[in-house]
Amino acid sequence: MIADKVNAMKLLLPLIFTLLTTSLKAQPPYPSPLDTILPVRGLCLGAPSTEDLDRFVKFIDEECSRLNVNLLVLRIGTSYRYQSRPELANPDGLTKEQVKKIVAAARKHGIRIVPMVNLLGHQSWHGKLGKLLTVYPEFDETPWVDLPTGKYEWPNEDGLYCKSYCPLHPGVHDVVFDLVDEITEVFEADAFHAGMDEVFYLAEDKCPRCGGRDPAELFAGEVTRIRNHLAASGKELWIWGDRLIDGKTTGIGEWEASMNNTARALHLIPKDVVINDWHYDRADPTAALFALNGFRVITCPWRKSDVGLAELDLMLKFRAGATPTTKDRFQGMMQTVWSGTSHFLDVYYGEAENKDPNGDQDACFKELFHAIGQLK
Ligand SMILES: [Zn+2]
Repeated sequence: MIADKVNAMKLLLPLIFTLLTTSLKAQPPYPSPLDTILPVRGLCLGAPSTEDLDRFVKFIDEECSRLNVNLLVLRIGTSYRYQSRPELANPDGLTKEQVKKIVAAARKHGIRIVPMVNLLGHQSWHGKLGKLLTVYPEFDETPWVDLPTGKYEWPNEDGLYCKSYCPLHPGVHDVVFDLVDEITEVFEADAFHAGMDEVFYLAEDKCPRCGGRDPAELFAGEVTRIRNHLAASGKELWIWGDRLIDGKTTGIGEWEASMNNTARALHLIPKDVVINDWHYDRADPTAALFALNGFRVITCPWRKSDVGLAELDLMLKFRAGATPTTKDRFQGMMQTVWSGTSHFLDVYYGEAENKDPNGDQDACFKELFHAIGQLK
């Protein structure tokens, strides 16, 4: 009997060893010393094309891990083959299997993924209407504004930057929440990014539902509605911060802050919304505005390395000087990429030249993360 047990153990031991080592390998890496210095070290970029998928997965596996990236905000929009809303799905978008490859690569290195679909604003770009308003034109906040057939120019008579959906349309949330639920599920995400930046069309006088209403209350109402939907399944809402900053009082203006009376929404939305505070030309100290009002905040540069490095410096100073109550609201940094992901990867790997005359997002990313690596 004893001999049988010994033999059985001999047979089982390799299996137990394999199971143990496999489960250890599947765990995220041990916490980095950087986690206490700068908890969030992110990169925000568009969904990779299906052709770029393998290269993108390799980029996560080799580069993001090496550079201490621990957050990817992926702008998916309709570039996914949604099953809940096939009418909004891009037939060339990512498949479920492809998304799972991204999820696995990120998980291997303890990188959190937050998928993004633009809600409220950014429902058109220049002369092109987005998929939501193409399929559901009744959701358009400004149906009387035609998109230009020729070259788009800013400024223009209509004040057209991007179209918005009407947040008070009775049918819009049934549709967009299906996208929110499906994209967070497929990415196995515990947070969702709703964009909500640069919303210029809001509370339009000619909208039969919104005309005459307070833009701050309308904006806050939409943020709160999305937040509550996510909170019901234990997920966080992330948004860009610009509509919550008073562009007039701060002098920051109408892009990186609000000149359309939405800023008071800062005091009307739930404090657990995570703010992505983007400033591309100056290191504005607005992270303090958000943190001191109770919000977690991540500062986001783009294509100017000196600005990105100054913002990192400011973030570290805020953390060093903060009270224990506010310190961890200063969460960290996130590099933004506004070209296609394919071009970003081309430049990253030296296969193409940066062609942006106003800056170099790849250089900013590399310099920012080099500086972050030095903090250890
Ligand atoms: Zn409306």
